Amino acid sequence: MSQQLTRRKFLKTSAALGWGITLSSVARAADAKAASSKRGKRVYIMTDTEGVAGILDSENWCKPEGRYYDLGKELLTAEVNAAIAGFARAGATEFLVADGHGHGGINPKLLDPRAELARNWSPPPYPFSLDDSFGYVACVGQHAMSRTEHAHLAHTGSFGVFETTINGTAVGEFGEMALCAMQLGVRYIFGSGDLAFTKEAQALLPGIETVAVKRGTTPGRGDECDRDAYAKRNLAAIHAQPQRARAMIAAGAERALRRAKSDASFGILTLKPPFERVTILRRQAGQPKRIGRSNHPGDGIALMNAPMKYEVLKE
Ligand SMILES: [Zn+2]
Repeated sequence: MSQQLTRRKFLKTSAALGWGITLSSVARAADAKAASSKRGKRVYIMTDTEGVAGILDSENWCKPEGRYYDLGKELLTAEVNAAIAGFARAGATEFLVADGHGHGGINPKLLDPRAELARNWSPPPYPFSLDDSFGYVACVGQHAMSRTEHAHLAHTGSFGVFETTINGTAVGEFGEMALCAMQLGVRYIFGSGDLAFTKEAQALLPGIETVAVKRGTTPGRGDECDRDAYAKRNLAAIHAQPQRARAMIAAGAERALRRAKSDASFGILTLKPPFERVTILRRQAGQPKRIGRSNHPGDGIALMNAPMKYEVLKE
């Protein structure tokens, strides 16, 4: 803040003296350099529970009434700390951890002291405290989108969502945040979760560094399922032991940031405005399948925050 005021005063003085153009552009370049080097040390980490190694189902591990909910939060927090350790080895110094799981998935007491924690967003929620002061975005504990084969606990926002597309491309929670990051000009460089999620991330953002900590083994897409059946569908998986998973995540995060610094070619989604979002809901609570749309001429974050009006889907 004080630096900015000083700069403003300097520019005013230089303009009054008539040599504003040269000096103000020098000052601006210096500011941009300082900002970009600071940005390069700041990493935003979106988190979720269903893509964590050792989190075996949603019922017992991801809900407050579940038997292992607290243990699940410990497992996620430890994976997040592993990512922070990896990014720090590659030079990052500031971290914002967004607790993105609906019921909460981070245990603040166990979180790496270098990190700040974001939670409980006032509406509209997107982009969940991400802004352009960050150089990089990552996610930990991410699961694949709804309809994905061999995905553990796949869903998009909730088990009631059949599919979300943006400009015709199917996206999950990863893609929705990648759209927000694109809007802000922040590169999405790393993600960990189940194997199906890592394939989804690679397909949407080629070159992104990913780490798979488990793999779902249920075949088929589950398109026939209503909400409740889909919630119980993709429980089968083979998990890495959690300590092993953390070692892989730390190594992957370090690799991601080192690579990003020398290779600017990955991490930004290529979706062109205008934007259209279409979400189809599964049959649920006596309701048939429904479809909703929202549009925005140029802002992907505004698109995600736009209210959706649903009508019965005619098939
Ligand atoms: Zn989720």
